[in-house]
Amino acid sequence: MRSGGDPAAIRRDAAVQERMAGLGVAVECFDGGLLVGQDRVRSKAGTPFKVFTPFWKTLSTAHEPARPLPDPAALSPPGNAPASDALAAWGLLPTSPDWAGGLRDDWTPGEAAAAGRLADFLDAILRDYRTGRDRPGRDGTSRLSPHLHWGEISPRQVWHAAQHRAEAAAGLEPAMEAFLREIGWREFTHGLLLANPDMRTEPMDSRFKALPWRNDDAGLKAWQRGRTGYPIVDAGMRQLWRTGWMHNRVRMIVGSFLVKDLLLPWQSGEEWFWDTLVDADAANNSANWQWIAGCGADPAPFFRVFNPVLQGRKFDPDGSYVRRYVPELERLPDRYVHEPWSAPAEVLAKAGVTLGRTYPKPIVDHGAARDRALEAFRAVKAAGKVAPPG
Ligand SMILES: Cc1cc2nc3c(=O)[nH]c(=O)nc-3n(C[C@H](O)[C@H](O)[C@H](O)COP(=O)(O)OP(=O)(O)OC[C@H]3O[C@@H](n4cnc5c(N)ncnc54)[C@H](O)[C@@H]3O)c2cc1C
Repeated sequence: MRSGGDPAAIRRDAAVQERMAGLGVAVECFDGGLLVGQDRVRSKAGTPFKVFTPFWKTLSTAHEPARPLPDPAALSPPGNAPASDALAAWGLLPTSPDWAGGLRDDWTPGEAAAAGRLADFLDAILRDYRTGRDRPGRDGTSRLSPHLHWGEISPRQVWHAAQHRAEAAAGLEPAMEAFLREIGWREFTHGLLLANPDMRTEPMDSRFKALPWRNDDAGLKAWQRGRTGYPIVDAGMRQLWRTGWMHNRVRMIVGSFLVKDLLLPWQSGEEWFWDTLVDADAANNSANWQWIAGCGADPAPFFRVFNPVLQGRKFDPDGSYVRRYVPELERLPDRYVHEPWSAPAEVLAKAGVTLGRTYPKPIVDHGAARDRALEAFRAVKAAGKVAPPG
């Protein structure tokens, strides 16, 4: 069994143990969902780390994750196990409507699929991971997150397989280290959630409670549906809706847009991701949302506001990601695909784009929205609640 740092999972595991104990069956829990287990990576003072770099240094130098054990030769169920339902009898798969088609196209659940994905990643993707991981238009990351979340593969298997591959092939070491560092972030966020069980709703930096967030249902809906008028944001939100997953770089861009351009509370983004991601994970999701909002552990400063046009141009330079998920912009030339509003009328006409009709006009002006966000942040600062940004 695996609990990670999620208080709900810990409660569930404890309830199973108690129930089974009542039936005379002993249940043991193992931290198999983590690299080394929660209580082992501690600062010199014996406290959980609040900053990633020293956490990672300690984990990667002082704690070699245990090698995964071989499969048991046989598993015999206890003789007095309670009767069980067949999973199919619960009718969990959606039928009317069947909204899961996009998820089925992209994902194959299960241990075999997870092992296959890891092998493909190590064979063909790892070598370019350091650059590829920031290109949403490419297959440049492992896409192991749902498999890791659901326990279909363990981070220890991933760790040892990646190390083994880097030992066997020259020049893979830096890419392998960059990849394992991300697995380290996962371990870090689980420790944060364990130490801060209300991290899904409460800012870790409580001074951020004073930030005057807006209330804007129409803005939230436009963001959720991928209709903000900012192509990279809309592509990300539509990828999420269709496939249940979004590239990490784009998660950061859409997160910054919600929290800073729309000035909506990070909790509403966390909730939407929680409802729609196939890898929805209480620790990773809330820690990353808090990181974006500036109120988490080791956060991005609030005053750093991503410009969605520049981010799009930098990380999706040929517009292939935007074109895949926002097909109504498919025929726009590369230079306008991240800012269709700046295209001359004849270019728009030739590409079949009518702003406000075939594709939305931007729902906010980024420059004005950025000033509004910084103003909101300053108001909190003026009240003496937040230390001035450096
Ligand atoms: C706003 C926001 C919300 C997020 N919500 C989740 C979530 O609910 N569940 C989730 O698993 N990840 C979440 N992430 C982290 C990250 O985006 C995904 O783990 C990653 O995109 C998964 O793709 P991958 O498996 O190809 O990653 P790879 O780049 O191949 O990384 C390998 C593994 O490392 C871990 N990892 C990578 N990046 C991070 C990170 N920033 N924080 C913690 N662990 C990381 C994941 O387990 C991932 O599978 C979130 C990030 C942001 C910015």
